[in-house]
Amino acid sequence: MKYGELADENIEPDRAKQIKDNVRAVLDSIALAEEQAEREKSSVSLLAAVKTRTTGEIFAALEAGVRVIGENRPQEIEAKRQSLQKVCAEKQLEFEYHLIGQLQTNKINKVLPYVDCIESVDSLKTAAALSKRLESAGREKIGVLLEVNESAEATKSGCSPEEAFDLACEIAQIEGIELRGLMTTGMRGGGEIELRRCFSSLRELRDRLLSSKNKGTEKCVELSMGMSGDYKYAIAEGSTIVRLGTVIFGPRTF
Ligand SMILES: *Cc1c(COP(=O)(O)O)cnc(C)c1O
Repeated sequence: MKYGELADENIEPDRAKQIKDNVRAVLDSIALAEEQAEREKSSVSLLAAVKTRTTGEIFAALEAGVRVIGENRPQEIEAKRQSLQKVCAEKQLEFEYHLIGQLQTNKINKVLPYVDCIESVDSLKTAAALSKRLESAGREKIGVLLEVNESAEATKSGCSPEEAFDLACEIAQIEGIELRGLMTTGMRGGGEIELRRCFSSLRELRDRLLSSKNKGTEKCVELSMGMSGDYKYAIAEGSTIVRLGTVIFGPRTF
């Protein structure tokens, strides 16, 4: 993949229309799922997962109502952020930038100055490294979510559910680290029962953290869970952020 090409601001009108139609359909579908789950209107926010997508494609999604975008790779943030900031400044659109992919400590400087929230923190080591680099990144704090591997798949990132409570409490006390919630990915190939079990387990963990009244856990409210194939189950189980790529942009070609 050539990262430079991802900064391309141009987009064919047909492609832009397709993305905008998809965003509107997804927003309707989220609203319906909220209603069916008897949840408050607009209690779920849509994060567009934009790995491999260009600035032009992302901008089309923003114009259709997306307000949060999530990148997986620090290199993609580096490639796109200037062109994204430029087009958004021109059109007076604002967005929140999240990192949703794994973060190695040697890549922290590439992302820390630019993102609002890192959803993929899964160790004390990463949280401590983030805290240490805040000053040189020119900021006082950074929002994080603790990623939990609820489905216990060996290939996945995230801390284990057993260690998650203690880890969350420790991370929440680190200077400059604002623990805003938890993140997980549903079991790959899982059916409704397995998927909902992962999601409800994350919700229970969040509720335990909030009611613990431990220092720093009072802002741990977000549940980032649900992707294109399983977001309706996630919303039924209390998700507050769904991370959608394929249903907005179509299948990934690389
Ligand atoms: C790609 C990705 C998504 C979105 O996946 P889709 O199935 O395309 O909706 C969500 N979360 C993470 C961490 C991802 O890497």
